[in-house]
Amino acid sequence: MSSSWRDVPMPPAVARLPRNSAGRPVPGNIAWYEADDDGAILVTRDDELGGHVTCPCTPGRGTPRFGEQCPMQQRLLMRQRRCGLCTQAITPLAQLVFVGESDAAYYLEPPLHPLCAAYALKVCPVLHAAGESIEVALTTSYTLAEDRITGVSADGALRRAVFPVGDPAAHHLAVLEFYLAFPHTPERLTAPTWLAQHAPKLLP
Ligand SMILES: [Zn+2]
Ligand SMILES: [Zn+2]
Repeated sequence: MSSSWRDVPMPPAVARLPRNSAGRPVPGNIAWYEADDDGAILVTRDDELGGHVTCPCTPGRGTPRFGEQCPMQQRLLMRQRRCGLCTQAITPLAQLVFVGESDAAYYLEPPLHPLCAAYALKVCPVLHAAGESIEVALTTSYTLAEDRITGVSADGALRRAVFPVGDPAAHHLAVLEFYLAFPHTPERLTAPTWLAQHAPKLLP
């Protein structure tokens, strides 16, 4: 890894993102907290989604919590085929990149533009530390499923289940939090191999 994330050139759409206090661009799927936010999970209901988790955060306001996804932003990005880093649309039929563990069947993080994936892999300390155990899945399309909260166990942990999108029973039984993306016939490479041999180059 280069000495600092500051040395890695930002794609133009990434440079326009809101920043944290250190000046680091904050990915579009990340949750923000304002001082008066107690972190409670807010649930509402409508005809389209049934019960679902909502979120009052506004990107750029307050403090971002890296590693924690905003359910509203995550669902918007997943449904609209927009990049989880820069939030811009990914052209239909264009290649997109999911980043995760080896042979992941599905992804909880939205797809990325190849250029944005290359940037994220270079600057994210968590992804960098994981090295060869992080894989990219390259594809042009994906199917969504619903990750819903079905209840709370005695120790306070949330119970979850996966449902097809739009399952009417799920609307009543469970609360939608995130979408899961299942890539179609992905080509999988370790992140270091992809970066070294195939990823688009980040230009200053
Ligand atoms: Zn939010
Ligand atoms: Zn992007």
